[in-house]
Amino acid sequence: MARDPRYDILFEPVQLGPVTARNRFFQVPHCNGMGHRDPTAHAVMRGVKAEGGWAVVCTEEVEIHPTSDVGGYIEGRLWDDADIPAHERLTEQVHAHGSLAGIELCHNGMAEGNFYGRIPPLGPSHLPVTTHEPTQARAMSHDDISDLRRRHRQAVQRSLRAGYDLVYVYAAHGLTTLQHFLSRRYNLRDDEYGGTLENRARLLREVLEDTLEECDGRAAVACRLVVDELLGEQGIERPEIEQLFALVGELPDVWDVMVGFWPDDSRTSRFTHEAWTEEHFRGIKQLTSKPVVGIGWLTSPDTMVRLVRDGVIDLIGAARPSIADPFLPVKIEEGRLEDIRECIGCNICVTGDWTSTPIRCTQNPSMGEEWRRGWHPERFRPAGSNAKVLVVGGGPAGLEAAMCLGKRGYEVVLAEAGRELGGRVLREARLPGLAAWIRVVDYRRGQLAKLPNVEVGLESEVDAEEVRAYGFDHVVVAIGAGWRADCVGRWHTTPPALDPAVETLTPDDLMAGRLPAGERILIFDDDHYYFGGVLAELLATVGKRVTLVTPAARVSEWTVNTMEHDRIHRRLVELGVEVATSHALAGVEGGVARLVDTYTSVERELPLDGLVLVTARLPNDALALELGAPAIGDAYAPGTIATAVWDGRRYAEELDGDPHGDGVPFRREVVELAPLGVEVPA
Ligand code: ADP
Ligand code: SF4
Repeated sequence: MARDPRYDILFEPVQLGPVTARNRFFQVPHCNGMGHRDPTAHAVMRGVKAEGGWAVVCTEEVEIHPTSDVGGYIEGRLWDDADIPAHERLTEQVHAHGSLAGIELCHNGMAEGNFYGRIPPLGPSHLPVTTHEPTQARAMSHDDISDLRRRHRQAVQRSLRAGYDLVYVYAAHGLTTLQHFLSRRYNLRDDEYGGTLENRARLLREVLEDTLEECDGRAAVACRLVVDELLGEQGIERPEIEQLFALVGELPDVWDVMVGFWPDDSRTSRFTHEAWTEEHFRGIKQLTSKPVVGIGWLTSPDTMVRLVRDGVIDLIGAARPSIADPFLPVKIEEGRLEDIRECIGCNICVTGDWTSTPIRCTQNPSMGEEWRRGWHPERFRPAGSNAKVLVVGGGPAGLEAAMCLGKRGYEVVLAEAGRELGGRVLREARLPGLAAWIRVVDYRRGQLAKLPNVEVGLESEVDAEEVRAYGFDHVVVAIGAGWRADCVGRWHTTPPALDPAVETLTPDDLMAGRLPAGERILIFDDDHYYFGGVLAELLATVGKRVTLVTPAARVSEWTVNTMEHDRIHRRLVELGVEVATSHALAGVEGGVARLVDTYTSVERELPLDGLVLVTARLPNDALALELGAPAIGDAYAPGTIATAVWDGRRYAEELDGDPHGDGVPFRREVVELAPLGVEVPA
């Protein structure tokens, strides 16, 4: 199908100084948990984005020198020539599909403690590093400043040798020395690099000029800039940005603008909406003649067109939308909007960075597996036989398995007990703030409808006897899991005493529409991801007096990895939810809960009318065990929606494949040993 002419504007080429972006789709730098440790996996992932039509494909932040490392986080490195081959591999992958490769050079300075290199970090002033590491940054001397400029130049030279077409000067996300110098909050200097905005911008201007000189027309220079630190008067705000553009607005070939810190920039759908950045970006383009890239969780082509037509941005910046659908541009170009796998804004992708593991995505299970497992977001290995496959259960695991098996060419029947496809996603998307998650179902339901070889049976609850009678060649069971009502989980591995007179509910009960009858509700969250917080929000908004009790030191503790923790805590406090962290529920007797302090074991009592247990789930694996068939997703081991989708893909990919046996089931790179070199001193 041809592209709808109303999207033509998105496919206009854009001149970025000496290079031309073939369209307006710009994959801005994003972390991926692979970086310097998994260079080929990283390179191939970026290549797939280029194949999917992104005119510019960038790296994550790349450390320019060991005087600024990001410790245990796995980012890019360009410390010396030894790092060049990994980058060459990346640029080759991107160039193979006609896209431009961009590199985000970074000096983290006081944003990190340099725990890998052990070199004291440097910043504009004598201040502790912005993380809670027990380290202070040293105020940079003039020699330190010239070292930084020289090392940045060297990194630019290496970037050019590696084949990059676009080189970043990075002053954003609260993560870089160039921003720390700009910011009144961190720059307390009284020399020519401190004080007035002109002085605070001196280092940024110098590094921009250095970078332009080194690139010398061989690559474009991009500047990533925070245009509002969201710190009020303490931070960079629009008046200073206007002054800054008057000073350096015409220097770079392209501006990449953002707002706040990374948790602001990549806020989840629970706390934002598409194009939320628009109010911050309006007017920026009028400050410069150079093209402007901007993000804003942009997944809808109509919104993209509007932002370009309205003169808000010139290029559609995207990290997450390009992760969920690396082929977003191609699909718009080919008029296949219904095939777009829209990002749900859950930030599972971000957890790869925070846990230093390869990036994964709820919507796109091939993310991070392009090279490791040879999975492609759009292409599938043809079926290995003409077997007929029954998939039991239409939640995320069953939907993904049926869709991939169908795309591989198998004859598939998907039997779902309910009236609608979607399983847990149907229920969870009705919880406060999670509506966008329904896209997991929407995309797969749409794809299944296009596959003549996949038959979907709704209201088709099957048992082992029926399944056997059907005579399928393969059966896979994806019938999910159920929340436990006995309080067993991490804290209690055997059930504690609970008062049968106190109404006790599980997340499944609440999602089925049952609300506790009483007023004072205790939620015991021993799950630590989103459920406890979301259910507290649900109950508080219907007028219950909610106390959230968790053995963790923070509410919804694992959401530090999705960068939502602060917002969740704030929302609960605003809703009047009482929060009891570092406390466990010891038991309930006579209408009173006994809470125990996890550090001191001191107990206290809390009267309650109802209890909600968010502890653990039990897989529905009886059917699989009875059939001797594989269970996938939550029916095998309860986890996130992302793990269920991934497992559905894994099953479909591996059917009729070579069994891995005892081997490593994916490709990896093992470091090459260097010569021993020196003897360890006796
Ligand atoms: P997962 O997250 O692993 O995909 P879900 O709980 O989301 O699991 O989905 C399981 C789906 O299986 C639900 O939609 C449920 O209605 C369906 N289901 C459960 N038991 C049966 C059964 N015996 N036959 C068919 N479908 C079933
Ligand atoms: Fe979007 Fe979630 Fe995928 Fe990240 S993991 S790209 S937020 S769908």
